[in-house]
Amino acid sequence: MSGIIHGETGDFEMVIGLEVHAQVASRAKLFSGAPTEFGAEPNTQVSLVDAGMPGMLPVINKVCVEQAVRTGLALNSKINLRSIFDRKNYFYPDLPCGYQISQYLNPVVGEGEIEIDLADGSSRTIGIERLHLEIDAGKSVHDIRPDATHVDLNRSGIALMEIVSKPDMFTPEEAGAYVRKIRAIVRYVGSCDGNMDQGSLRCDVNVSVRRAGEPLGTRCEIKNVNSVRFVMRAIEYEAARQVEVIEDGGTIDQETRLFDSARGETRSMRSKEEAHDYRYFPDPDLLPLEFEQSWVDELAASLPELPDARKARFMADFGLKPYDAGVLVGDQDFAGFFEAVADGRDGKLAANWVTGELFGALNKVGKSITESPVTAAQVGTLIDRVSDGTLSVRLAKEVFEFMFESGRDADDLIEEKGLKQVTDSGAIEAVIDQVMTDNPEKVEEYRAGRDKLMGWFVGQVMKASQGKANPAAVNKALSEKLKG
Ligand code: ADP
Ligand code: MG
Repeated sequence: MSGIIHGETGDFEMVIGLEVHAQVASRAKLFSGAPTEFGAEPNTQVSLVDAGMPGMLPVINKVCVEQAVRTGLALNSKINLRSIFDRKNYFYPDLPCGYQISQYLNPVVGEGEIEIDLADGSSRTIGIERLHLEIDAGKSVHDIRPDATHVDLNRSGIALMEIVSKPDMFTPEEAGAYVRKIRAIVRYVGSCDGNMDQGSLRCDVNVSVRRAGEPLGTRCEIKNVNSVRFVMRAIEYEAARQVEVIEDGGTIDQETRLFDSARGETRSMRSKEEAHDYRYFPDPDLLPLEFEQSWVDELAASLPELPDARKARFMADFGLKPYDAGVLVGDQDFAGFFEAVADGRDGKLAANWVTGELFGALNKVGKSITESPVTAAQVGTLIDRVSDGTLSVRLAKEVFEFMFESGRDADDLIEEKGLKQVTDSGAIEAVIDQVMTDNPEKVEEYRAGRDKLMGWFVGQVMKASQGKANPAAVNKALSEKLKG
């Protein structure tokens, strides 16, 4: 997916900026003690503050603030020692106060940058504009009764971090890589579970197009996109739509759109003329947030190893290529599993088995790495059996399938199923002799100069040995014997 759109009147480039909403991992809400558990019965996790009762006062949850600061640090961004909560005023049935508490001109985290990892192994730096804290709204439920809308306030007041990028991305792939990187970072930090299916991480996608060298075009904002794949598809559709409008002589209206994933298209929700004037002003119920630098330093010191550092370590210690290392560290559990397999072994071999065989098998049955039927130690032993010559790679793959089905150890299965590779030269030579006796005309042809028949002989010998002969030993013995 390139970022260039070939229009009828020339090429256009897409420009993308993302606003990621990440739900803060915290047991209580941002300004109340109500719980935040996902999937609870409607309106069972609502305090008087979250319901907007008159006279209630918000009380800041320190854990949420810590999580925002730790995330800001992990995004290599400036931590503002003084920030302000504002009221963003609008009416909506799921917003009982008539305003959302957010941060506008003075967010808790300012500018920064992160690296994204692309499939060709290269990296790019993407600017972060800001990270601010805000509360989530409730949810309108339209499908209980045909003539009424219900409101569930469980989500009302839950802390969100809004992470705003600069318009620094130029292809759908870069936007996808950015979302994956943000998700990996918040997961490593532990500030958000990064679960896009449950809406803990969702994305507003800003897209514009321009011809090479032109200033930024007018953008459209696609709201609440909830998977990496949809982010990429929405961008592709939206950019192509904008080019068509421009080439038809029209102009792009700055508007809010939604992505219909079933149809793969974006549709207008509201135009700029209908846009809200939010009348932001500092929330008089809340004091400015003020930190000591020493407190921020303590939080910085408490951060775990982050994805980029781990990636660099995987490349240095295990000789992995940048992209493979990037894929592995993208998921903490996956990276941990790999590290356990690679410990004391050839890192590239370990990476091949974990990202190839194991990952493929897990995908097939729809399981995550934490549900893997085989442990890291078991995969490690299997690799050892290849290294010590007990198994050929082909046999090892067969053993792996049995392991994955049964959860049993490699050694058990090798023993039980008689899957040991045959390296004994006497046994291999006996098979070769048989094959040669059965196919005298092929031996003639080979000796007359048809070198290509070598492959055919190897195949016959492997077949006769039921795949158990050591391929290197077969090749060696065959060339000797065929020479005559
Ligand atoms: P708003 O508050 O209206 O959403 P922001 O200034 O916060 O506006 O910008 C929102 C997002 O839009 C940012 O991620 C920014 O990078 C992106 N953006 C701004 N201008 C453009 C543009 N011309 N094309 C694509 N993205 C843009
Ligand atoms: Mg916005």
